Amino acid sequence: MTLSQDLWFDTDKCFVNGHWIAPVTGDTLPVEDPSTGQITGAIARGTKADIDAAVHAAENALQGDWGRMTAVERGRILTRIGQLALTRVDQLARIEAQDVGKPLTQARADAVALARYMEFYGGAADKIHGETIPYMDGYTVYTLREPHGVTGHIVPWNYPMQIIGRSVGAALTMGNACVLKPAEEACLTALAFAEIAREAGLPAGALNVVPGLGEEAGAALSSHPGVHHISFTGSVGVGKLIQQSAGDNVVPVTLELGGKSPQLVFKDADINEALPFLVNAGIQNAGQTCSASSRILVQRACFDEVCEKMAMSYGALKVGPALSDLNVGPLISARQKEIVSGFLHAGDTLEKIGEGQIIADAPDTGHYVAPTLFAPVDARHSLAQDEIFGPVQVIIPFDDEEEAVKIANGTDFGLVASIWTDSGARQMRLAKHLRSGQVFINNYGAGGGVELPFGGVGKSGHGREKGFEALYGFSTLKTVAAKHG
Ligand code: NAD
Repeated sequence: MTLSQDLWFDTDKCFVNGHWIAPVTGDTLPVEDPSTGQITGAIARGTKADIDAAVHAAENALQGDWGRMTAVERGRILTRIGQLALTRVDQLARIEAQDVGKPLTQARADAVALARYMEFYGGAADKIHGETIPYMDGYTVYTLREPHGVTGHIVPWNYPMQIIGRSVGAALTMGNACVLKPAEEACLTALAFAEIAREAGLPAGALNVVPGLGEEAGAALSSHPGVHHISFTGSVGVGKLIQQSAGDNVVPVTLELGGKSPQLVFKDADINEALPFLVNAGIQNAGQTCSASSRILVQRACFDEVCEKMAMSYGALKVGPALSDLNVGPLISARQKEIVSGFLHAGDTLEKIGEGQIIADAPDTGHYVAPTLFAPVDARHSLAQDEIFGPVQVIIPFDDEEEAVKIANGTDFGLVASIWTDSGARQMRLAKHLRSGQVFINNYGAGGGVELPFGGVGKSGHGREKGFEALYGFSTLKTVAAKHG
């Protein structure tokens, strides 16, 4: 089945006020299949005028049916979106695979996660309550959880469906009206989501989608005075710009900016159990995962064993087109391949102990990079410090717990960490001492399930999405103090 056979909506339009409309300029951007480098279609190149229209539609929705809807009704619509998404999981997976180069199985997991977010948040809509506060005699004081108003969602290309699910899902649950700007490299499932939401009965204007370039549509959204909250996932550089715009408008912002997440392996760990997690957390989605584990810290007593076993796993990794559904697909773009190749070049003086294999019939025009494992690597090396966003991992030796924590906490980031050890006491100590938004013990969740609050410290960003925690972030608290004598 070709990509165009799977698409049942207009890809070159914006979704504003419940309708598919051409961007004001009429301009489009190409859709590229990263597996082949071929242009497969077009998306709208939305600009400030389209963002203005989308914000206006969102404001009207808040004054209309959407703003008046009860939490129960909002929950039902979200649940329905989830159910409809589930009926299209295979189709969404094929679309995503051909739009971002993600192997089908991984793309399918994203589609299931999108549906799961809608189910989770649909069920949560009527379960967020205010409280009463004992105050002075003659008063009744209570709090109300209210939507911010119009929320802006700027989404990257690496996990469009999951990131839309976690941010738009939570924002709609709390009664906000959303304007979504997907990444120019990966718009198709965002548009599919809009069409599914329309089919599920989401009132016009509650969700608006404007594809376009970051510096055009993205900047127009993040600086728009009609937007009351911004959720951004992407690079640190753009995150800083978003935070500045949000500062100018004095609105809250959630930033999820990636990481350099470590896994700490101690000699008392079950290495065979850890092995698939050590490798998969680095190569999943070709390493283009904000919570990718690109640093493996290993105690010297088991260093050789871990290196040897990981190198063997790397030797079995196959890289090829997304629809071939191998371990690793292409990178998103020629530009991303250039960035990752630069890092590999920086590793020329290091020992490369493992490498995956690009299959012979992978098109030369696709953006393929063989997964690469380096060891031993000094913790200060750029490959051990910078976010690579490609299938590259380094193994760093340590002697004891104190040194392991120092290395683990020794980058600018703090998104996810995991500890592999049999010692309960060490698990508890390290879970406290690791500077990270999530800590996994004897597993690695790469961001974890929809129920688990997720977000970073340091340059990994701030604010939390996922779980119930996101619902507090996507709402504001009003205190009402009634004096009745
Ligand atoms: P990016 O930060 O440039 O883009 C992310 C989103 O922000 C896209 O929707 C983009 O259109 C938008 N954007 C870009 N410039 C903007 C601006 N001035 N104002 C408002 N919105 C803007 O990320 P990228 O260029 O796609 O990737 C570059 C690097 O970012 C990667 O190599 C990787 O290290 C990192 N990254 C991290 C994540 C993550 O999940 N944390 C995701 C994607 C990329």
